[in-house]
Amino acid sequence: MRFIRSFLSVLIALPLFAQPSVTLSLKPGRDTGQPIDEEYTRKIHEYTTETFFNSPLTDYLPASKTVPTPKAVLGDIAGAPGILPYSAEVYKYMRMLEAATPRVKVFSIGQTEEGREMIAVAVASERLIAQLDQNRARLAQLADPRSIALDDAKADSLVAASTPVYYITGTIHSTETGAPTALMELAYRLAVDDSAYIKAIRENVITLITPVVEVDGRDRMVDIYRWHLAHPGQEWPNLMYWGHYVAHDNNRDAMGLTLQLTRNVLNTFVGWKAQVLHDLHESVPYLYDNTVGDGPYNAWIDPMLADEWQMMGWNNVSEMTKFGMPGVFTHGTFDTWSPSYLMFIAATHNGISRLYETFGNGGADTEERTLQPNEYARTWFKQNPPLPKAKWSQRNNNNYEETGLLTALAYFSANNKLFLHNFYLKSKRSIEKARTEGPGAYVFTADDPRPGAQADLLRMLQEQGCEISRASEPFTVLMPGKKPKSGRGGRGGSDTATDDAAKPEGEAAKADGETAKPEPKPKPEPRTFPAGSYVLRMDQPYSRIADTLLDYQYWAPNDPQKSIYDDTGWTFGELGNVQVARVTDVKVLEAHMTPVNGPVLAPGGVEGAGSIFLINHNADSALITLRYRFPGASFDTAEEPFENAGHKFNRGTFIVRDLPAADLAKAAEELGLRAFAVKAAPSVKTHPIRAARIAIMHTWMNTQAEGWWRLEFDRLKIPYTYISTQTVSKDAGLRAKYDVIVFGPGAGGNAQAVVNGRPMYGNPLPWKVTPETPNLAKTDETDDMRPGLGWTGLDHLQDFVKQGGLFIGANDTATFAVTFGFAPGVSSTAARNLKVTGSAVRSKIVDAASPILYGYSDNLAIFASNPPLFGLSNMAGGGGGGRGGAAERERATGRGTADDPDTPQGRVPAEIPEEPHGEVWEATPLTDEQLRNPVNVIPPAARPRVVLRYANNSELLVSGLLDNGSELAQRAAVIDASLGQGHVVLFSNNPFWRAETKGSYFLVFNAILNFDNLSAGRKLASK
Ligand SMILES: [Zn+2]
Repeated sequence: MRFIRSFLSVLIALPLFAQPSVTLSLKPGRDTGQPIDEEYTRKIHEYTTETFFNSPLTDYLPASKTVPTPKAVLGDIAGAPGILPYSAEVYKYMRMLEAATPRVKVFSIGQTEEGREMIAVAVASERLIAQLDQNRARLAQLADPRSIALDDAKADSLVAASTPVYYITGTIHSTETGAPTALMELAYRLAVDDSAYIKAIRENVITLITPVVEVDGRDRMVDIYRWHLAHPGQEWPNLMYWGHYVAHDNNRDAMGLTLQLTRNVLNTFVGWKAQVLHDLHESVPYLYDNTVGDGPYNAWIDPMLADEWQMMGWNNVSEMTKFGMPGVFTHGTFDTWSPSYLMFIAATHNGISRLYETFGNGGADTEERTLQPNEYARTWFKQNPPLPKAKWSQRNNNNYEETGLLTALAYFSANNKLFLHNFYLKSKRSIEKARTEGPGAYVFTADDPRPGAQADLLRMLQEQGCEISRASEPFTVLMPGKKPKSGRGGRGGSDTATDDAAKPEGEAAKADGETAKPEPKPKPEPRTFPAGSYVLRMDQPYSRIADTLLDYQYWAPNDPQKSIYDDTGWTFGELGNVQVARVTDVKVLEAHMTPVNGPVLAPGGVEGAGSIFLINHNADSALITLRYRFPGASFDTAEEPFENAGHKFNRGTFIVRDLPAADLAKAAEELGLRAFAVKAAPSVKTHPIRAARIAIMHTWMNTQAEGWWRLEFDRLKIPYTYISTQTVSKDAGLRAKYDVIVFGPGAGGNAQAVVNGRPMYGNPLPWKVTPETPNLAKTDETDDMRPGLGWTGLDHLQDFVKQGGLFIGANDTATFAVTFGFAPGVSSTAARNLKVTGSAVRSKIVDAASPILYGYSDNLAIFASNPPLFGLSNMAGGGGGGRGGAAERERATGRGTADDPDTPQGRVPAEIPEEPHGEVWEATPLTDEQLRNPVNVIPPAARPRVVLRYANNSELLVSGLLDNGSELAQRAAVIDASLGQGHVVLFSNNPFWRAETKGSYFLVFNAILNFDNLSAGRKLASK
């Protein structure tokens, strides 16, 4: 067995470098010549619950006279019961290692939202550590093969001289608590252990470790765990806030890059020119290397990467299986489609992404754990499955994490030249991509009406490491011709569309038995982009991240993968309301262009002279920042489009007074807004837009999805007060304090749960800063997380609206408002067969005069994930709307053909009155019967106003999965409902999602700025 393995590794390594790898034949386990730390080793055995939950790599600890073990900081060994170190203790230990051995170096890699430090710890031989910079300079050339003119021979010599970097990240998920101690001990072993196995790792790979990724959440989790230890027999509060904004979703930010932890890890990975990013998680028994996972794989990665996943994953399983450790596997249900996971930073930057799920207890208690049948079942890919029931300890978890990592590092170091060469090849192929698979470039046209949104997207791509160029002259390329519109087989999903207004002309012909002619292939059409257009060339090393973010995604409704892991679509141009052209014509690469140095900024400033300033409304998020920057100035908004001095201004244009020109000029430049100074205001109907006083309300059940809202409000400097449903239950005077209450989605339960809160069975669950829990600060506080909004709170909230306030809800919180009568005439139901799983879908404007749509043009892509289906009615308490009205009613049995009326015999035929018909997004028009005594009829001015709807089924899907789309097609998407003096704005979509939906933000901002004039431009029904 050993012979075959060595032979294979020679086969792999020889053709390239004639330097056979020897490490694989090294025996894992201690060097009997090196003394062990007897006490530490004894404790390892004591805390490991079964011998087979350990391996020869971790069942001992080598002793050192000079280097301290983790016990120096922890007071016990890594993984000891009852011990969970704060980030500061972890860092203290890493810096003790750095001080004690030249094999360890600690780097500060940035701060968290709440100002805590993040670190990366490099461990390697003293020779490698001493030459980190020289090594990095070589890796940089391999990472950007343009620097060596794509010269393979030069690359070979660089590979021969270089050492790869394997980057390990721990505890991004704060409830998954084991990684920090495992990584402390791993660093010690790598620095101290003199066994041939570990020595080979030390000399052939630079191990880089970030022991705590979510530092804010880690410190809070340790608080909670200590509270639990100090209150035996009580239930402990769950971890309501991990990071400042989001919880588990901190591992969904690798596209949008809005969290500090994502940026810090990205900058470290890219800055070090690392080859692997291996992220540690704990939710599956006992070690799931989910790298191989299951399909569909992300469609934009280099196929070489998929092979590397298999190589490393199966080697991992193989080695640990030999150790007799149960429950190690790599094939599983995780699909590798979405690139939003932290580890995917490597996949989209020519590295190798990896992820372990080990088994944690969410703390450091040793407990009996019982698994589900599907977890302990033996399957073809899990021949030695986990035990149905076992006593499980944090030490077991640490054994698995360390053993997995050490075998992975051994395999990687044994094949270090192979993987380095692959790294070069992937980087080179990313450059060649422009001319092989394409596209040649993505172009952002200079005449995009939303330069601010365009610059925002380009800056994010720059942060991803992409280079942006700018065309110095106009250029023309061939674009794919437009396909003729066909009613079938478009992007509309798999069900047969019955809702689309017009049937394609071909349909009738086919019905007559004629053969439809095959459609001619559309001819490419030239398109000229103006000078100043931005070009993202695909002949650059990080072309793949740009391609995966900017391209369209298609998830087939019949895909064999039924348990979809995450979002299926994310196309950033569409969801960002930015025009992005995918140019396959490689002539684009010859256009005259110059690289952009520094972040892309939209041009801004003041033109003209006068004391009144006109700022066109183009739904650029910077507009709301401007409004709140000058809360005292007078801002009006135009209710109709107009022209002034040869410039066209959209409906919603800001008209600013009482502001010194210099102040506005400075702000406009910084924010990338163009203001036109004029002497007289245009003669267009206007109303004021105020710096509304905003509260963002959260529950104590879940704060994650609303966290994405808060994050963007903070980034755009929109002030708000952060309140909970409990605050509202105690405050009868909300309207005096706030103009707008935003209830972000993801409240954590159904509408009743928002009112009821959590069950009140046990003890209070505090979330509060105390000496015992010092880190639960900077978000919100309560003595007991269990109580909800309550009926009193519900009254307070309704009073707030009735007194002229604006309530905004989205998705489940929109349903909450509908359920409790905030929006008479609106109903909300759950879909039955519709499948839209984190997809981008098309919307259509219904009422362009609504202030909610100021600055928007039609066909905005919006984000939908299992959205509620809204129905409209003109009757209070009446459901209905949607499909199934008169138009679709089939005739009853009787005389005549299918479209004939029946004729009762023996009397004169009666004329059948026409039934009123409304569109799917509308309320059915009132009947004369309903108007006879209209006690339940909602007066016209109080009826809900549909602003935006979902597109017809044939054009509904933009990106991702859509199945049975007809259930959603044409439904109302955004509704402005009235209650008393106030308004309730309901979103079926989620306008703020993972910084992917920037194009939808201003729907919410418009509602906020126009909270007291939302009925502007409204045409009322006559009856
Ligand atoms: Zn996790």
